[in-house]
Amino acid sequence: MKIKRQKQAKKTISFYKYNFSFREPFQILFDGTFCQAALKNKIQIKEQMPKYLMGEVQLCTTNCALKELETLGKELYGAKLILQRYQVRNCAHFKSPVPASECLLSMLGETNPHHYFVATQDHTLTAGLKKISGCPLFYIISNTIVLDKPSQVSLDQVQAVSLGELVSPAQQQSIRSLKEEQGIGQVDGERRGKKRRRKKSHPNPLSCLKKKKKGGPTPPRKKTEEGEKKRNRQKKQKTEEVPAPAKTNT
Ligand SMILES: [Zn+2]
Repeated sequence: MKIKRQKQAKKTISFYKYNFSFREPFQILFDGTFCQAALKNKIQIKEQMPKYLMGEVQLCTTNCALKELETLGKELYGAKLILQRYQVRNCAHFKSPVPASECLLSMLGETNPHHYFVATQDHTLTAGLKKISGCPLFYIISNTIVLDKPSQVSLDQVQAVSLGELVSPAQQQSIRSLKEEQGIGQVDGERRGKKRRRKKSHPNPLSCLKKKKKGGPTPPRKKTEEGEKKRNRQKKQKTEEVPAPAKTNT
């Protein structure tokens, strides 16, 4: 069973790495419900998560999630102690905290641009997560942490992109960075193509100027002389400017 789960996790992690450019250190957003479940099941989050993701992790939460635990009282004191140790990421509810589920969803936006994993047992949050593409979910079931399989929204998004139906800006970026990392030449090709297009637009006015020079060569010479003079003046000005601040300092 363990090996099966590990294989599935590997598959899921590489899915997010490849399609949504998830990178180490993996950022995991926790709420109180997950910490409470971990505590009940004697799961050491800090030790288990790096093993599970086979890489460096950053354990994070938000102020709203912490505030929610405070208001829920003594029963969740242990969970609060765990959550307090994590990095607090800035959310938009600095002045008036909202429920943790609402807050964490707001951290993900529409496309999860900061590549958060979310660790929760909250069903409203889980339901919301499944509507966001590229948002992996951790939950605890029967004493173990489980990384949920990619949601249908994520799968659909990846398929649409692969078919060329849909390329969101976030995905364009992720695709570019992936290609650069893997040294695939398509990115260079695209860039070269763009440069060539620019060159095509420039030579036309230049070639027109050359033709004019043939007709009357004197006016362009004056222009170049003026240009040189201007350059000299600029250089002189620069050298003059350098000692000026020194004078003000003394
Ligand atoms: Zn918040």
